Amino acid sequence: MTEPVRMCVGCRTRAPKRRLLQVIRRPDGVVVPVAGPRRRASGRGAYVCPRRACFDRAVRKGALARAVGRGRAVRFQPDDLWNALVVAARHECRVLRRTGASRARLAASSELARAIDREEGDV
Ligand SMILES: [Zn+2]
Repeated sequence: MTEPVRMCVGCRTRAPKRRLLQVIRRPDGVVVPVAGPRRRASGRGAYVCPRRACFDRAVRKGALARAVGRGRAVRFQPDDLWNALVVAARHECRVLRRTGASRARLAASSELARAIDREEGDV
């Protein structure tokens, strides 16, 4: 099974969706992480590498806001959103392990969690 491929809004590199962090704009304009076994989200998401540098660049250039806002106002505080993404990625990995996800999905999720750990200097 191949995972869908998405593009990082920070560096424009393409990667399997589950190796990228995902955010979405809620109806009230607040940008929040999308995570979980199915990454279920309504509306259009944006994806970013699990690297703070990519995230910061996407924020600085306005690429993240454009991708999720599509002309509408978006609200988020970069540090808070990044921290929420870190928590979301780790949570997603734990949930997938517990629920017996497919090997490909689990591998992608584990890689994402490891990348986050490296990024956060916890490993
Ligand atoms: Zn990137």
